[in-house]
Amino acid sequence: MTNCIFCRIASGEIPSSVIYEDEDFKVIMDIAPAAKGHAIILTKKHFANLFELEEDVAGKVLSVAKKVAAAMKEELCCDGINLLQNNGEAAGQTVFHLHFHLIPRYKDDDVHIKWKPGRYEDGEAADIAAKIAGRLI
Ligand code: AMP
Ligand code: ZN
Repeated sequence: MTNCIFCRIASGEIPSSVIYEDEDFKVIMDIAPAAKGHAIILTKKHFANLFELEEDVAGKVLSVAKKVAAAMKEELCCDGINLLQNNGEAAGQTVFHLHFHLIPRYKDDDVHIKWKPGRYEDGEAADIAAKIAGRLI
């Protein structure tokens, strides 16, 4: 996809600060970081989101995330790391080429990834779980 910014970064057409690269992924610095060191894992092939992601690439991504997270923690001495991935505008996705965020976190930092905890009525969680489970293939 020539009009996709992350395809152009993944191919090297647009330069980026690269942390890691293999045949399936490029891990780069996010241009507008939530915290210094914020990285994004890009797939080399264009998938708009998790729903489009091919199984074999899906099976490899967590190993890349684990490897980079360990290096990041060691180098930055952060207290924690968020691994985030947004699908769809409603979920906060702004670039429609699959990517995973690795965000270094520090005690009392100014990064806010929060929701108001909700609650289920009696039996509601089990009911929803069963409905979703029924659609698994
Ligand atoms: P998301 O909201 O999950 O789609 O995240 C998109 C991320 O891509 C944001 O954190 C942006 O700062 C980042 N981003 C957008 N353009 C670039 C770019 N040219 N190089 C690096 N990161 C980028
Ligand atoms: Zn793309």
